[in-house]
Amino acid sequence: MNAARKPLLAANWKMNKTPEEALAFWREFSGRISGETGRVEVVICPPYPALPALQGTDLRARGVYLGAQNVHWESRGAFTGEVSPGMLRAVGCSHVIVGHSERRAYFGESDEVVKRKLRAALEEGMTPILCVGETLEQRTAGRAEEVVAAQLTAALEGLDTGRAARVVVAYEPVWAIGTGRSAAARDAGEMAVAVRRRLRELAGPAAEEIRILYGGSVAPDNFARFLAEAEVDGGLVGTASLRPESFFALVASAANAATAQAGEGEAQ
Ligand code: PEP
Repeated sequence: MNAARKPLLAANWKMNKTPEEALAFWREFSGRISGETGRVEVVICPPYPALPALQGTDLRARGVYLGAQNVHWESRGAFTGEVSPGMLRAVGCSHVIVGHSERRAYFGESDEVVKRKLRAALEEGMTPILCVGETLEQRTAGRAEEVVAAQLTAALEGLDTGRAARVVVAYEPVWAIGTGRSAAARDAGEMAVAVRRRLRELAGPAAEEIRILYGGSVAPDNFARFLAEAEVDGGLVGTASLRPESFFALVASAANAATAQAGEGEAQ
């Protein structure tokens, strides 16, 4: 982590939780929020039907943001089953995940589609969480950095610096998602350094403001190791975000790391 960037922790609930279940989560989670939690940008990304239910709670007043897991790039029209950035805004979303590997793999989302979604989200004033990451085959072949750099280039090339600074990048090795097998913190840290390098080439000084998250089987017993990496600014979390106690443990871990870092900064 780096004291200059606010850590971000995003819960990706995927296709889990009805509106009632989302509210039950929020009741328990919100009871744990303290002043310290404010050191972390916490985002909950439920399935679409649970968005209005969560919007109707005190979530924003408690410093937590709402996000969506997907978005279409057009603002309206004949796109059956799709949801526009403006519609997400209308139900309280400030953040949106784009290019998750499950969308790339199961729904055929190309780099071009991811780029359109990212730009549409930015146009609407939202914070896109851009997912990038290599498959196991690509890592084994020594191509992980090259693959991630190409995904970043496809999504971000040509973006003006003001917009680029609002992007969040989630490095999620595909083989680590939902498998219980996280990356080694050192490998994730090295990839985050490579991502920051590529971001500097693509976005110039705005790269210093972009948060880089790690995602892939993050859990309360491994998260602190990822946060100890200089260029990792938080996490995108699936499984461990489904239970209020484990997601809160991750928030607390990031808040503690941020407090420790602020203390170090003051001591210098
Ligand atoms: C994810 O959905 O982005 C993810 C990282 O899932 P998990 O934490 O379950 O690996």
